[in-house]
Amino acid sequence: MGDVTHGLAPASGADRSGTKEGRAPQRPYLLLTPGPLTTSDTVKEAMLRDWCTWDQDYNSLVQSIRGRLVRLATAASPDAYTAVPMQGSGSFSVEAVIGTAVPREGKLLVLANGAYGQRIAQMARIYGIALSVLDFGETDRVEPEAVERRLNEEPDITHVAVVHCETTTGMLNPIAEISAIVKRRGKTYIVDAMSSFGGIPMDVHELRIDYLISSANKCIQGVPGFGFVIARVEALAACEGQARSLSLDLHGQWAAMEAGGGKWRFTSPTHVVRAFDQALRELEQEGGVEARYRRYQGNQQLLADGMTMLGFCSLLKKDVQSPFITAFYYPPVEGFSFQQLYDWLKEAGFVIYPGKISAADTFRIGNIGEVYREDIARLLQAIEDLRFW
Ligand SMILES: *Cc1c(COP(=O)(O)O)cnc(C)c1O
Repeated sequence: MGDVTHGLAPASGADRSGTKEGRAPQRPYLLLTPGPLTTSDTVKEAMLRDWCTWDQDYNSLVQSIRGRLVRLATAASPDAYTAVPMQGSGSFSVEAVIGTAVPREGKLLVLANGAYGQRIAQMARIYGIALSVLDFGETDRVEPEAVERRLNEEPDITHVAVVHCETTTGMLNPIAEISAIVKRRGKTYIVDAMSSFGGIPMDVHELRIDYLISSANKCIQGVPGFGFVIARVEALAACEGQARSLSLDLHGQWAAMEAGGGKWRFTSPTHVVRAFDQALRELEQEGGVEARYRRYQGNQQLLADGMTMLGFCSLLKKDVQSPFITAFYYPPVEGFSFQQLYDWLKEAGFVIYPGKISAADTFRIGNIGEVYREDIARLLQAIEDLRFW
């Protein structure tokens, strides 16, 4: 395949060639994965400076990011919400919510249809939280009627958690329909929107979400290092002393940040935060969430249509498929090897993702990050060039 850096994503503003002297190191391949994903050179460059964690400059930056996150999450009622960043990967933030929001006498219902829903259930088990799991398997979406039945059967449930885009398969769950059922009964509503927030329009106030969780390295297109929770202030304020962990005490983190004007309780990932600030700017420059959603949708449609033309079948039906990541069955071709496809594409400048479900042999291709239609077109060409069927 020759020079693997040839023909990478076009520049949109900054020079993306990575070949200029003294610039960011070369990017050998595009990450077609659900995060960490390919970030812009300008996001990476934002990290080339050290920051003091208690200095005013840094703390004001944190406050600005928190404010912008809330406004991204809700135009309808920003005053009712707060954004709390938390060190670690996205799961740390999910765990901070589960371990802080559910009181000792509470009971959590987890709506699961993939690995990330199951992970929430596992967190609850470890914390000894009373738990009910409604498992829809791996390829069916969460059915609102089943949620309603379970809530009727177990009225002691106090909190309901669901994954918006179940990244295991790329499934988009119906969070608005579920909300109506959950909130009619006055339950607390927790949404893991890790791989969707910033990439699809939504309003936490309209959706009546109490806690929404996402992270720096998904649709906002920052680098990995922290997650964040968009919390309804009234709900979070009632959680003092409830956390089952010191480091993952969401209320403690929030209270310290409020008191300290943007100071994190413990050492914060300063470079990652600075990169995130730049990533938020670039989201605004692109035209906001609506514009990013359209780009992702365009990428995903081109990918799905192109793969169909090449003889691949998508795991999910179109009506539940998210615009972020797509799972494909292995083609029914003798001698097909995922490893061969993977190695070939890596050589061509693309890293794809193995499958994660147990019921079928699949692989996944993400289309979020600094990824454009031209990249998807080149990917499809590279797959066609392999011609192993
Ligand atoms: C990425 C992701 C997470 C968090 O995973 P980490 O590896 O901890 O960052 C959680 N839920 C979903 C749906 C995700 O896509």
